[in-house]
Amino acid sequence: MCTSCTRRAFLTTGLATAFIGLEAHPTWAKGRVACAIGTESRTSDRDDLLSKSNDRAFDNALVVELERILRIIPVNPGFKYVKDDNAFATDTTIVTGTTGTVLIGLKLVNELLKPDQGGVAVACVLAHECSHIFQFFSVNQYYERLEASTQRLRELHADLLAGFYMGKRMGAAAGAMRSVEKAMMDFGDYNNADPKDHGTPGQRSAALDKGYVFAMNGLKFDDAAIEGEKYVRVL
Ligand SMILES: [Zn+2]
Repeated sequence: MCTSCTRRAFLTTGLATAFIGLEAHPTWAKGRVACAIGTESRTSDRDDLLSKSNDRAFDNALVVELERILRIIPVNPGFKYVKDDNAFATDTTIVTGTTGTVLIGLKLVNELLKPDQGGVAVACVLAHECSHIFQFFSVNQYYERLEASTQRLRELHADLLAGFYMGKRMGAAAGAMRSVEKAMMDFGDYNNADPKDHGTPGQRSAALDKGYVFAMNGLKFDDAAIEGEKYVRVL
């Protein structure tokens, strides 16, 4: 699925659309959608899809990060910015030649790029969204299997796979992982009856940590996804 050929197609298409600029595509929200933060967005700037952020260095860094993620997580999504303060994954395909779409909110990115978050939290959020794409399209049908009265199992599973990616990305850089977990913990809350529940701060941290340890222990991604499902069900 994630061949160098499809990666190249994705990047070429992504770069080509970068020159189009603003696009209106409000229909993406009609597909299956998952997001990074459980609370309702404080804004509703989701409809205008942007192909660049007005910060070329950041855009380039993001492309490099996405290339790294696609080497670990077997998905091939398109990628767009929205102005929102959340990040989303949808099974709606917007960019030709890709499958599903990751939408990252510029307001969220700006928050995560503050010095005390170390910047690596953006990588973790991207990996979390790509993990939802994996859940949507995996032959194991994780998105369906993890259905419950709230989104919590799907979200913690995506956190665990993001932690796995961070372990592969950084190796045993425990200090950096600590700041990633701190940033992601801040997204947790205690609204466990809310259908949008993403888990408590402790659960989100534990899921990330377990994925990181799976990577340290040399598990393959598919095995981390299987073992991760068992783990989040008892968290
Ligand atoms: Zn999510």
